Formats: sequence, structure tokens, C-alpha cells
Amino acid sequence: MATHTTRMLIIGSGPAGLSAAIYGARAGLKPIVVQGLQPGGQLTITTDVENYPGFREVIQGPWLMQEMEAQAVHVGTRMLWDTIVSVDLDGPKRGEPFRAIGDGGDIYEGETLVIATGAQAQWLGVPGEMELSGKGVSACATCDGFFYRGKKVVVIGGGNTAVEEALYLTNHSQDVTLIHRRDSLRAEKILQERLFAHPNITVVWNKRVESFLADPANGELRAVALVDTQTGAESELTTDGAFVAIGHAPATSLFQGKLDTDANGYLLVEPGTPKTKIPGVFACGDVMDHVYRQAVTAAGTGCMAALDAERYLAEKDFAEKTAEVVAG
Ligand code: FAD
Ligand code: NAP
Repeated sequence: MATHTTRMLIIGSGPAGLSAAIYGARAGLKPIVVQGLQPGGQLTITTDVENYPGFREVIQGPWLMQEMEAQAVHVGTRMLWDTIVSVDLDGPKRGEPFRAIGDGGDIYEGETLVIATGAQAQWLGVPGEMELSGKGVSACATCDGFFYRGKKVVVIGGGNTAVEEALYLTNHSQDVTLIHRRDSLRAEKILQERLFAHPNITVVWNKRVESFLADPANGELRAVALVDTQTGAESELTTDGAFVAIGHAPATSLFQGKLDTDANGYLLVEPGTPKTKIPGVFACGDVMDHVYRQAVTAAGTGCMAALDAERYLAEKDFAEKTAEVVAG
């Protein structure tokens, strides 16, 4: 078991964590990134990315993340393969660093802590869903809606996200169907009104998606198999794309009782900043953002976290030096 020390400890290696690392390393903070179970984060489970600035051609999510990691390492980041299982955020109260423990027992100590653990889309867990992910099944209309220009799409869910995704998809498709398992939506009234008023959106009530069906000719999504939640009747709905929008789960269990979260578990930060309630602890990316959830916004808040960590350390260094001078 080893102890790793750094001025900037970053948990998570998605766009937020790696952007924080690039800025932190360039500020001479020698950051350590603990990568977790999904090195590179959510973009490693998608294919085409067309909205990350700087690339005219379509790029691949895993490639983008490899490049971000290479850049972070190039400027002086240490990437470590481990998953954090517990954190102690009270160290500074005792004059010690923040401390995190990896699942093999390694200890990570940071004078600042950047939390970039992201969020995971919730999936239905039905046959065909994972197999057809990226081949017609998606959990992000903003990311993948463009690929369904002029095609038929369905959205599964009945909350704000599902309704917003359905409305967003009408920018690309004239044939959008919202499938919900009950006969009323939990989305806000104003969104419901927009949904019901839209001429290109149909709502299918009381239907549960039983499985996603592939077209044997090309291995891509062909239809969703449905079961009526009232009668049990089975049916099929042909579609080119299916967007699962049944919620996201932020990866915040490590911080329960230590940092404040909203009702959905997202870390709370000082508005417009990545600062948590504990000085020296910053949160960036999807773990603190249930609204935008994009690679570029995650990268942006990662940058903000590193800049604020740098300022925090500069003030701490200054205070320590001043105390030394005063002490004689
Ligand atoms: P994540 O990418 O979620 O990374 C979280 C990191 O934290 C991971 O490395 C994980 O291993 C690590 N971690 C978690 N827990 C621990 C732990 N206990 N210890 C150590 N590490 C831990 N956005 C776009 O802008 N364009 C797109 O085209 C696009 N397509 C997408 C397609 C799909 C299928 C999905 C799911 C998302 C897509 N997104 C897209 C959204 C984008 O991927 C996210 O907004 C972005 O990845 C969030 O970055 P993040 O760094 O906050 O977190
Ligand atoms: P949500 O409000 O939890 O809604 C999830 C929806 O998915 C519900 O309609 C639920 O059905 C359905 N669902 C869950 N599991 C399912 C399953 N296994 N099979 C089929 N359907 C399933 O999630 P969300 O829409 O992602 O919103 C999360 C939070 O973010 C909410 O607080 C929301 O207000 C907020 N948000 C706000 C905005 C905004 O303000 N513009 C936008 C997006 C999200 P039931 O209704 O039957 O439970």
C-alpha cells in the first residue's frame, strides 16, 4: 500500500477531471488523477462526437478522451488506476491534507481536492439496450439527435428530461414518439403543454419497453417491443432511434453527509463557481450539473475548478509564509 501526495488531487478522468488536470499541471501543481472504473468517462462509451469545439470532422469519443489524457500527462499529470472508496474532507481542520482511500488501500493526499466523478445515465436494463447502444439506442438527444435527421425516433420516460429530449429532437425529426409507462407525465406543466401542442410529437401512454430489436441486415435498431402496462398486450413500434430518458444518477455516494447535495444527489456548489462548502474542495462536470451535461461544459467547469484551486493554494501559501515571518 502506497501513499501518493499532491497539491491537487482529482477524482475522475472524464472531460472535467482531465481539463482540471491540464490546468493544474500547467500551474505547477503536479496533479494526480485517480481514474475510477471508467477511465476517460462517459464519452468512452459513445462513438461519433460532433459538438466538441475544434474539430470539423466527426471525432470518436474514446479517441477524444485518449487525446485529453495524453495532453494531461504531457504537461505533468500523474494518472493512477484506482477507484476511491472513501474520503476524509476534515484533514485541513487538523492541519492535514484531504485524504482519499483507493479500493486496494492506497492513500491519496491532496492539499486541494477536485471532484469530477460524473454521472451515469440510468438505463432500462432490457434486452438489446446495451447491444444497440450507439447503433440506434442513446441516452443523450443533444449528443446524438443530429444523427436522426429526417428519421423516426422514440423517447422513453415521462419526466422533464424525456419531454425536453422529445422537444429537442423535433429540430431533427418530424416523427417523434414519447413512450411513457403511465397515463400522466411528471414533467413540469409548461413542458407538457409544449409537448402536447407540438404537431410532430405523439405520446404513447401506458407502455413499457420490453426490448430493443435489431435489424438483422445491418445490426442497427429496427423497433422497440412494447407491453401495455394495463392490459399486458404486446406490440412493436418501428423506429430508427430510441432515447432512454429515465434519469441520471450522479456519482456522489462518497460524499454523502460530507458535502451538500440537491434532492437528486448532485453536489451543490456556490452559484457560478465550482466551490463546495469546504474551502479547498471543488466539484466540476456532471457531478454538479444536472442541466447541461455536455463534454464541453464539463471541461469548462474542470478548468474553473483548477483555477480556483490554484488561487486557494496561492492564498494558503501566502498565509503560511506570513505566519512564518510573524513567528520570527
Ligand atoms: P464523466 O465523463 O462521467 O467521468 C466521470 C469519471 O469519474 C470517470 O472517469 C469515472 O471513472 C470517475 N469516477 C467515478 N467515481 C469514481 C471513484 N469513486 N473513484 C475514482 N474515479 C471515479 N457530451 C457531448 O458534449 N457530446 C456528445 O456527443 C456526447 N455524447 C454522449 C454519449 C453518451 C452515450 C453519453 C452517456 C454521454 C454523452 N455526452 C456527450 C455527455 C458527456 O459524456 C458528459 O457530459 C461528460 O462526459 C461529463 O464529464 P465528467 O468529466 O463530468 O464526467
Ligand atoms: P425524473 O424526474 O426522475 O423522471 C424519470 C422518468 O422516467 C419518470 O417519468 C419515470 O416514470 C420514468 N422512469 C423511471 N424509470 C423507468 C423505467 N425503468 N421504465 C420506464 N420509465 C421509467 O428524471 P429526469 O426527467 O431526468 O429529471 C431529473 C431531475 O432533473 C428532476 O428533478 C427534474 O425536474 C430535473 N430536470 C429539470 C429540467 C428543467 O428544469 N428544465 C430538465 C431536466 C431535468 P414515472 O413517472 O412513472 O415514475
